[in-house]
Amino acid sequence: MHKITLLPGDGIGPDITAATKKILAATGVAIEWEEHLAGESAIPEFGTPLPETVLESIRRNKIALKGPLTTPVGSGFRSINVALRKELDLFANLRPARTYPGIRSRYEDIDLVVVRENTEDLYAGVEHMVGEDAAESIKIITRKGCERICHFAFEYAQKNNRRKVTAVHKANIMKCTDGLFLSVFNEVAKDYPDIEPEDRIVDNMCMQLVQKPELYDVMVMPNLYGDIVSDLCAGLVGGLGLAPGANIGKDYALFEPVHGSAPKYAGQDKVNPTALILSAVLMLRYINEEEAADRVEKALAAVIKEGKTVTYDLGGSAKGMEMAEAVVAKMG
Ligand code: NAD
Repeated sequence: MHKITLLPGDGIGPDITAATKKILAATGVAIEWEEHLAGESAIPEFGTPLPETVLESIRRNKIALKGPLTTPVGSGFRSINVALRKELDLFANLRPARTYPGIRSRYEDIDLVVVRENTEDLYAGVEHMVGEDAAESIKIITRKGCERICHFAFEYAQKNNRRKVTAVHKANIMKCTDGLFLSVFNEVAKDYPDIEPEDRIVDNMCMQLVQKPELYDVMVMPNLYGDIVSDLCAGLVGGLGLAPGANIGKDYALFEPVHGSAPKYAGQDKVNPTALILSAVLMLRYINEEEAADRVEKALAAVIKEGKTVTYDLGGSAKGMEMAEAVVAKMG
């Protein structure tokens, strides 16, 4: 029996969570869910977007599946996603992006993996006002942070039979911070002689990904570039509805889609549950339930290829739950 913390989250979170739970139940994998409110939806009951019970539950179960959480723009509470990643030291954010036949996209056969450092960089949100008319943000990059994320990327490449790892940076301008990231990457690369290392400046990387994505494989980068480049990759393979993610640390792992809470679609069961379903597939692989993971992924790919029971973003009119039911039917 796997005991797993479940955070349905805000906005569209509860809809895509219900669809994903239905599919996981059909795999036969014994999962006991421990469900908690987090984010905006926790505030009325707990007076905070991150009740202590959420962290306690993840620390106890070591694995969590999470829907998106709303973060107010500009003012209001700080991101609970960032807080969870920091509190649990989930230093590696793995974001695969691959094309599934049947999806209308400008590209075919894309198979990219973004490995995003998850705890440092400008994303740590260490910033303040300087008087009323200026603001400063501090970009934190440490040797330890660079070492562990670069090792993670090369180890991922080795385990998954990938051929190369590209470091993405802006070390020409940010010579200290991104310079440190790049020099650690080059040192770490020497421990993995079977994997080809290379590096690209982030702006050029974005252009190259749009023009020739087939040239790239695993990419590793500081937090903020990872945030942006992984949405770009999601766009290459058909949109945010299809992009899964995993936040992995030494002791805990939290699986969540790349997309946010899309508040305008909340409660309509309209959006695509695929990104959360594929996040759950990553979770099944992480807990060594490979066979169940393969069955879900194959059935989902078949539903997408058929194109009959898919959500609006894939050109269909099915509800999220109808798509999940079609996946369950294909699982046989
Ligand atoms: P978003 O990802 O929520 O939505 C942007 C657009 O992408 C949507 O309007 C919709 O058109 C499309 N989209 C997103 N998910 C989809 C799905 N599953 N199926 C089909 N289409 C989908 O981004 P946003 O509007 O910038 O952010 C909304 C909120 O989500 C913000 O509060 C933000 O902070 C939060 N957010 C949370 C996470 C997270 O919890 N990990 C990640 C990103 C954004």
